Amino acid sequence: MNKAFYSFFSLLLYANFCQSALSGVPGEVIAVEGHGAISKLDQRFLEINFKDQNYILFAIPYSASNESKQFDGIDINIIKKDFGESRITIEDLSKVDLSKEDADRAYKEAMQIRNAVNSYSTDFKPNMDFSSPIPDGIISSRYGKKRFINNTPRSPHLSLDIAASEGTPIQAPSKGKVILTGNFFYSGNYLIIDHGYGLISSYSHMSEIYLEAGDYVEKDQSIGAVGSTGRVTGPHLHWTVYLNKIRINPESLLKKDYLQGILQSYKDVI
Ligand SMILES: [Zn+2]
Repeated sequence: MNKAFYSFFSLLLYANFCQSALSGVPGEVIAVEGHGAISKLDQRFLEINFKDQNYILFAIPYSASNESKQFDGIDINIIKKDFGESRITIEDLSKVDLSKEDADRAYKEAMQIRNAVNSYSTDFKPNMDFSSPIPDGIISSRYGKKRFINNTPRSPHLSLDIAASEGTPIQAPSKGKVILTGNFFYSGNYLIIDHGYGLISSYSHMSEIYLEAGDYVEKDQSIGAVGSTGRVTGPHLHWTVYLNKIRINPESLLKKDYLQGILQSYKDVI
């Protein structure tokens, strides 16, 4: 085999490997070896050291079909998954067909939330060891469900709903810093925790918020209480987790040895 052919062949193998490594179902996180070309693209990605090997964690964005998408300059193959559907009835129609004033308010708040989610703190690194914000709560709607409100199709539900009685404490699933709190049109009493390096979690519909922006939180510290503020059908926590601006499946983060599982599947790919 001549040298040129060998180089070409190696490149082809590498390309195939990258392609297979950067595939997954919506909302899951995959690990990529950190010493390749990818690590040079952006220092803000979450890099984890495990058994003397560096890995970068990537989130697979939501898509309703098999699709290849470029995200932050990286090609990701999204594998279709059927998450089922969820149909809810909102009786307060002013929260479904918004007045001009409410629509303007909701738009401004969406921008505020987007800016917070896009802010990357690199002062501390998450360990990906999450606990449930309501350990005794009941999951009432899972990530990825096609959502219908009053029979009209809406954006998919890219969060986890945990039902519990009004006033049940909500705990920080991992340490971090509160970066936004307030009362929002859809989310009601709302709080965002920055866990570092693009890992961010948010909490909606609370009856009370115990913290302010700028406060640091420890894992399992109470951050607020379950409520039914904003657009809801009953008291519950709408819990969203973002990695690098992509909403990921919060339930997956609660799996035992979550990080080791991701790194193990990376090794399985090789
Ligand atoms: Zn929800």
